[in-house]
Amino acid sequence: MGSNAELPVLIAGGGIGGCAVALALAQKGYHSVVMEKSEEFVEIGAGIQLGPNVHKMFERLGIHKAIEDIAFYPANIFMKDGITGELITQIDTGKKFREKFNAPYGVIHRGDLLDILVNACNDSDFIKMLTSTEVYKFEETSAQVTASIKDGRNLKGSSLIAADGIWSKIRSEIINDGPPIVSGHIAYRAVLPIEEVPEFVNNDDVVLWAGPKFHLVHYKLRRGELFNIVAVFHSDKYEEGWDAFGDPKELHSRFKNARDEVKNLLNKINSWKMWVLCDREPVKNWSKGKVTLLGDAAHPMLQYLAAGAGMAIEDAVVLADKVNKSKGNFEQSFKDYQQSRYLRTGQVQATARIYGQIYHASDVVAELRSKMLKGKSPQNYDGIAWLYDGIEV
Ligand SMILES: Cc1cc2nc3c(=O)[nH]c(=O)nc-3n(C[C@H](O)[C@H](O)[C@H](O)COP(=O)(O)OP(=O)(O)OC[C@H]3O[C@@H](n4cnc5c(N)ncnc54)[C@H](O)[C@@H]3O)c2cc1C
Repeated sequence: MGSNAELPVLIAGGGIGGCAVALALAQKGYHSVVMEKSEEFVEIGAGIQLGPNVHKMFERLGIHKAIEDIAFYPANIFMKDGITGELITQIDTGKKFREKFNAPYGVIHRGDLLDILVNACNDSDFIKMLTSTEVYKFEETSAQVTASIKDGRNLKGSSLIAADGIWSKIRSEIINDGPPIVSGHIAYRAVLPIEEVPEFVNNDDVVLWAGPKFHLVHYKLRRGELFNIVAVFHSDKYEEGWDAFGDPKELHSRFKNARDEVKNLLNKINSWKMWVLCDREPVKNWSKGKVTLLGDAAHPMLQYLAAGAGMAIEDAVVLADKVNKSKGNFEQSFKDYQQSRYLRTGQVQATARIYGQIYHASDVVAELRSKMLKGKSPQNYDGIAWLYDGIEV
């Protein structure tokens, strides 16, 4: 099937993935329309960790300077036992790390990252940004794709990229694999001004406290002005979306055996927002004709490798390269794009589940974990190079 090159590429979803792909396509000279269902382009208040593989993509997208101005660059990633306090393992993310991967390890507020992407999109003559535009279905003909919007509008494009997240409506029309898999894990998150952070955790490291069926991660954000806390635990609650209020009672009961340091930090927060964590089995084919998926819509993963947004940004750069190489043959380029991506994203999906088990191990398995990891601080970074080396584009 051919396609009408006069029409823009339609992008459903104006989150990190949707804006990144609009930007990547614009750099190759392709027009696009980003259709976001919310009234404004806005991200939830929480931090995000980004490995060197993602920072290389920021360079490609031309936004690395803006990121550098606002990110925080931690000195180490520590994994500690949430009960005994002992150090389990450590990755030095300083000078040696930067030299090894040719890029830093950085953490950034999700809102800051989205603002940078949205501003870059708004500055581009190739991108039209629409809010209050919820796509609920599409129709494809030989020449075009039409996206139907909830308010009755129909938008026409040369192709459609669905970057509409883990609860993607468009995915169900391409891959009929039902709703996402509920992991039974919940994340509670909060961000504090740095002045309110207790001295005992106010340092320049990403710290992960691992405990039986729970873990807690904290790190500084926004040049060190803010402090991000994410507490994860096993629970049978389910609520779709990323913005419901958490129940502090349940949180404190799940962390009741944690060491005082962890509990004291949790006590600092009055109001938590929660995420119910879901993923899917990896698939190989997420495109149909001139329609494809990107980011969480294509390969949702548990967050234990802190890599989902990074994968969406890599997807964006690869997809735009393939479209450009095929000179706008969307059907072919979407096949090439998923072929380049499915094994890498599948590896992150599968490995993230294993990391979750390692973090949340109890009893004998926890002892074994600590014994195996202790003293093996991965200073040659071999174990994680498959992810952080990044991709050839
Ligand atoms: C607790 C937690 C911690 C995480 N930490 C990290 C981390 O440290 N590092 C990392 O790289 N990743 C992390 N992730 C993963 C990361 O958040 C996701 O992978 C990333 O947000 C995916 O981006 P996306 O653009 O594909 O989807 P989303 O961010 O979900 O964006 C989808 C967008 O589409 C819009 N939308 C939805 N439906 C429609 C529709 N029908 N029409 C129009 N618009 C629509 C939504 O409003 C939204 O703006 C974490 C995730 C969680 C849950």
